[in-house]
Amino acid sequence: MLEYMNKTAQSVWDNCLLFIKDNIQEQAYKTWFEPIKAVELSDNALYIQVPSKFFYEWLEEHYVKLLKVALTKELGQGAKLLYKIKMENKLGNKLPFTEQLPSNNHAAVKPQEVDAPIQNKNPELKNPFVIPGIRNVKIESQLNSNYNFDNFLEGESNRLARSAGMAVANKPGGTSFNPLLFFGGVGLGKTHLAHAIGVEIKEKHPEKTVLYISAEVFTQQYTDSVKKNTRNDFIHFYQLIDVLIIDDVQFLSGKAGTQDVFFHIFNYLHQNGKQVILTSDKAPVDMQDIEQRLLSRFKWGLSAEIQQPDYETRVAILKNILFRDGVEMPEEIVEYVAKNIKTNIRELEGAIISLIAQSSFNRREVTLELAKQVVEKFVKNVKREVSIDYIQKVVSDYFQLDMETLQSKTRKRDVVQARQLAMFFAKKFTKSSLATIGSQIGDRDHATVLHACKTVDNLVATDKQFKKYVEDIHKKLSL
Ligand code: ADP
Ligand code: MG
Repeated sequence: MLEYMNKTAQSVWDNCLLFIKDNIQEQAYKTWFEPIKAVELSDNALYIQVPSKFFYEWLEEHYVKLLKVALTKELGQGAKLLYKIKMENKLGNKLPFTEQLPSNNHAAVKPQEVDAPIQNKNPELKNPFVIPGIRNVKIESQLNSNYNFDNFLEGESNRLARSAGMAVANKPGGTSFNPLLFFGGVGLGKTHLAHAIGVEIKEKHPEKTVLYISAEVFTQQYTDSVKKNTRNDFIHFYQLIDVLIIDDVQFLSGKAGTQDVFFHIFNYLHQNGKQVILTSDKAPVDMQDIEQRLLSRFKWGLSAEIQQPDYETRVAILKNILFRDGVEMPEEIVEYVAKNIKTNIRELEGAIISLIAQSSFNRREVTLELAKQVVEKFVKNVKREVSIDYIQKVVSDYFQLDMETLQSKTRKRDVVQARQLAMFFAKKFTKSSLATIGSQIGDRDHATVLHACKTVDNLVATDKQFKKYVEDIHKKLSL
C-alpha cells in the first residue's frame, strides 16, 4: 500500500507513456495515447479517460498487452486498468457523462467498481465543420435539395436502385441495405439518387445527422488531419454521423491510409445502426486496389446497379426538364434527342438545355434542323467511348490478324500479345468490367484480363518494340 502513496495517477501514467512510446510507432502513439488522460489512482487501479467507446475498443484490441506490461512495471502484478469513456451526445448540447469499462487484461474488475462519473468541462469536439463560437456541433449536410426523389424519374434502368434508396430513406440504418451501394457509368444518376436519400431523410427525420461527402474531399480531409495531427478529431467527427453518404468511392483505390480510416469509421457506424450509402463507377468485384476487408464490407448490404436508361426513360427525362422550365417543344424534336443521346443522362440534359437556350436567345423556332446541329455539336464535343469491338478491330488490323484469330484459343505468341493488348486497351478506354471485357474478347475470365493488363504494363517497361506497338495503337484509338 505504502508504495502507492507518493504516486499520482499522472506520474504513473507518465511513466507508462515513456515505456509505450518506446515500443510503438510515433503516429500510433500520437493518435491513440496522447489523447488519454490519467484521472485517478486508487490502490493498484489506474483510471484513464478516453474520448469514445470506439477508442476504448481500439486500445483493447491493439494495445492491451502493451498497456498491461507498462502498468505492471509501475504498479506490480495486481495492477488494474480502468477506462472512463467520455460520451458525447450527438449535438454536444447536453452534459457529457462517462461510462466506465474494465480492461480485458485481467478478469478481476467488475463493472460495479464504477464510481461517480466525472464531469468534463469541454464536451465539444473539434471537427472541420464546427462553426467557431457556436456551442452545438452543427453538421452541415452538404446536400443539394435539387436532387430529390420527385425529380428522379423511375425506369427499368434504375428501378432496383431507386426502390432500395426509398426503403433506406424510410428507415435509415434499419434495413438490410447497409451499406447501400450504387454503381454504374458516368452521368447515370448515382450522385442524384444518393442526395435524394439524404434529402428525404432530412425531411422525415430532421434530428438525424446526415452528411454527404465525395470520397475525394474525404481523402483530402483525412490527409490534412494527419498533417495537422488531428486524426482523432477526424475520426470522432465521422462517428457522430447517422447517415453517411460517400460519393465515388472508387477514388479511394490505392489510398491505403484513407481506406484504413474509412474501414474503422464504417465498422463503428455499422455496429451502431447508422446508415452508410456509397456510390462507385464500378461494381465491387471490379474495384481495384481497394483492400479486401473493405470490399467485403461493401458487399454486406446491397449493391444496386444503375444502368443506361432505355428510350422511354430518356424521353421522360427530357419532358420533365421541359416541363420544369415551362418550355414547349415539338414531340419529334424530343424524340430525336432521345434517340441520339443514349449513354449519359448528363449529356441528354446538356443537349436539351442548349437547345432551349439557342431557341430563346436567337428567337428561333426549334426545328429538327436546329436539333440536329445541336445534338451533333454536343455529341462531337463529348469524348465518345470506344467500344470493345472497335478496339479488337483496330488491334487486329494493326497486327494484320483477323478478329477470329485474335479471339481464338491459340497460344501463338504474337496472337497472345495482340489479344492482351486488346484487353489492355479495353480496360483503358471503356468503362466495361474485367468480366465483360474477358467475355467479349474470346470468352476469357476476368483474371485473364487482369493478367493481360499487368503483362502489358511490364512489357511496356522492358521492351522497346512492344512499347512502340502500344503507342501506335493508342494513337489510332484516340483519333
Ligand atoms: P452520376 O453521379 O452517376 O455520374 P449524376 O447523379 O450526376 O450522375 O446525374 C447526371 C445528371 O442526370 C444529373 O443532373 C441528374 O439530375 C440527372 N439524372 C440522372 N438520373 C436521372 C433520373 N432518373 N431522372 C432525372 N434526372 C436524372
Ligand atoms: Mg456522380
